[in-house]
Amino acid sequence: MKLKNGAEYIESLRKVHPRIYYKGKRIEDVTRHPATAPHVRAAAMTYALANQAKYKDLATATSHLTGHTISRFTHIHQNIEDLIKKIKLLRVLGQKTGTCFQRCVGFDGINAAYSVTYEIDQKYKTDYHERFKRWLIGIQDENKMVVGAMTDPKGDRSKTPAQQSDPDQFVHVVERRPDGVVIRGAKLHMTGSVNSHEILVMPTTALDAQSKAYAIVCAIPIDAPGITLIFGRQAGDDRRDQLERIDVGKPRFGAVGGEAVIAFEDVFVPNEKIFMDGETEFAGLLVYRFAAHHRANYGACKTGLMDVLTGAVSYLSQIQGASQGSHVKDKVTEMIHLSETLYSSSIACSAEGKPTPSGAYLVDTMLANVCKHNVTRFHFEVARLAVDIAGGFIATLPSEYDLESEEVGHLVQKYFSGVADIPVKERIKIGRLIEAMTGGTAMVESMHGAGSPQAQRIMILREGRLDEKIKLAKALAGIPGKKRKK
Ligand code: SF4
Ligand code: FE
Repeated sequence: MKLKNGAEYIESLRKVHPRIYYKGKRIEDVTRHPATAPHVRAAAMTYALANQAKYKDLATATSHLTGHTISRFTHIHQNIEDLIKKIKLLRVLGQKTGTCFQRCVGFDGINAAYSVTYEIDQKYKTDYHERFKRWLIGIQDENKMVVGAMTDPKGDRSKTPAQQSDPDQFVHVVERRPDGVVIRGAKLHMTGSVNSHEILVMPTTALDAQSKAYAIVCAIPIDAPGITLIFGRQAGDDRRDQLERIDVGKPRFGAVGGEAVIAFEDVFVPNEKIFMDGETEFAGLLVYRFAAHHRANYGACKTGLMDVLTGAVSYLSQIQGASQGSHVKDKVTEMIHLSETLYSSSIACSAEGKPTPSGAYLVDTMLANVCKHNVTRFHFEVARLAVDIAGGFIATLPSEYDLESEEVGHLVQKYFSGVADIPVKERIKIGRLIEAMTGGTAMVESMHGAGSPQAQRIMILREGRLDEKIKLAKALAGIPGKKRKK
């Protein structure tokens, strides 16, 4: 692994020069800019854990392509153990960062593309899989961070990609050259994109035969000509201008994944980096597998966040003298119960994983969808309970400037204290942490990341084997007869 630790990862980002804008201005160095630096540090944790004896087994793997020790985030799952280790790793990283550490999107894209390119080649005798493996070996050996770029803007949602009045609403091929293709379009909500080294472009939806130009999977360096990133605003991001102040809540790490728009304005992709080009019938399969892997994650990374929240409100209760209240204990119990329930479904969909024809393992897709769907409820319920226990002060706290003010500091000190011997600053810090983890932009990812709830409901019904369930009911009720039309 070329990039051996978090410091080397951060240093490597200073050597690439993507075109990134935030609040109308160019960001020259994502590792130092207050808007992006916290996300860089969160992603750096995925590199750091590989060096810690306690987590090495989770954070690294042996490449089935080279036999080299690699970051698990670049590994192709070879068995159920790999799937489960990933889940355990994500929970630890959620606990250590309290936020999205971003690297799983590329990880899941790599695994989905690996298995699908194999199947395209089987059908069409193409060589996408070999190309993909060559690219992947480079990613593994260099230990690069890859952003999985899937979500297109979509324009008029009632129309397919080929029917859009603006064809750029979905990334597509606009020009063919002997040595490659030129693509145009954009990807939205791209977690971790500003601090990735490479982009893995994938289609966002199943495609009809008319949408051949949209069936493109390819890899592009983040600073390739024609690529522009526009970093999103987050609630409270102005507070980051004073990174060291306790008002930030979680000064080392960001509130969510650090999402950006990636615009592709006529970007050239050489043939060797193209892994699907026109095989429309495989686009849906790729999205399906990517989504399943990513939905499996959410019961792990978000459980890590819920662990932090549970710890935060428990400590706050202690330093406010409320921890022995039966209602507090009951709510904390419920928070733990919900967290472990979510984690169970992440483990379950991994334990039920199966090999794809390429040999790469895929999680159980039904259980993965159930897992993510539960995150859209349980994480919110855990956050609701945290806010309930914490009390209104997390929304009305004066700033650190007031705490330190010669005129009013003594008032903040006096009236925001808790039990004796606990510095008031500690109570404020933990309150700010809860605020940062429950409000503003923080929770949106749990609703819409890895697909909005309706996307999971569609899959749950589609894979729910209703016919079999009807048969079971009829057999027990003693109802003979044929299958009815729906
Ligand atoms: Fe990874 Fe979770 Fe962030 Fe998705 S939301 S990239 S699974 S940490
Ligand atoms: Fe996400």
